[in-house]
Amino acid sequence: MTADPVTTRQSTATAEVPATVRASLSPSRAADFKTCPLLYRFRSIDRLPERPTVEQARGTLVHAVLERLFDLPATGRSPEAAGDLVAPQWDRLVTEQPELAGLFPADGDPAARTEFLRSAAALLEGYFAVEDPRRLEPAERESLISAVVDDELLIRGYLDRLDVAPDGALRVVDYKTGGAPREAFEARALFQLKFYALVLWRTRGVVPRVLRLLYLRDAEICDYSPDADELVRFERTVVALWRAIEQATEQQDFRPRPSRLCDWCNHQALCPSFGGTPPPFPAPTVTPDPLLDARSRPAQPGADE
Ligand code: SF4
Repeated sequence: MTADPVTTRQSTATAEVPATVRASLSPSRAADFKTCPLLYRFRSIDRLPERPTVEQARGTLVHAVLERLFDLPATGRSPEAAGDLVAPQWDRLVTEQPELAGLFPADGDPAARTEFLRSAAALLEGYFAVEDPRRLEPAERESLISAVVDDELLIRGYLDRLDVAPDGALRVVDYKTGGAPREAFEARALFQLKFYALVLWRTRGVVPRVLRLLYLRDAEICDYSPDADELVRFERTVVALWRAIEQATEQQDFRPRPSRLCDWCNHQALCPSFGGTPPPFPAPTVTPDPLLDARSRPAQPGADE
């Protein structure tokens, strides 16, 4: 059994998948397994539903606004313009993802929705404190990238933003909106960025010059510059991780690994570390394209959002 079965869903990633590819892995799911193998199982094999939280919804909304902001002419990318995008983007998201509507039901307290939109606008102020979008022209936004490693594994995911300098240098930018303690998630965030750096290096032949974590709540930037040797080692790590996932799947053995991140886990009730019992291991099936997982915001606030 593979880590994440590859389907025939048409997309820019799957259209050119070589026949040798047996599985795909997104940075979110890889990081799940690294964080806690049982969490990986719950999300990727059992595919247990996870209710969106207000914090995740806020992250999704802020990402949507920042994506749309760059549709505007450079001179129009003001804090006010970003603020004007908040409510319309929320309405769009609720239409496209009806499960979000349950966060602020029509018969609920209207002040809660107002406060939610205000809190998203506050995060956008954090963005403007550290970047001036009038001076940027991103090459790509919310872009799907993928590469094959080890002949058999497709690694893929969505970049928040890719900047390309006139000399061809790449900068990968990831917006972080979570309120969780940063130190609890920074390693996971960097893992995700290295994942993207590896894909870009393998597909474009260029090691990104900068991997940028942009913490909107703290209005801080964390830049990291990988090198080729590091990405070679990272590729080995990803392949080893995939093999470990395959082995765990074959043996149906995904153990809990409790950590501070359990505080953000949706599945404590089923977790032996919290007195629960996981459901029976599901029979192998061809599940929906895991690319959808990479596209959605993660369930652990601050992890990938
Ligand atoms: S509660 Fe913690 S140990 Fe249990 S599945 Fe979730 S992350 Fe893993």
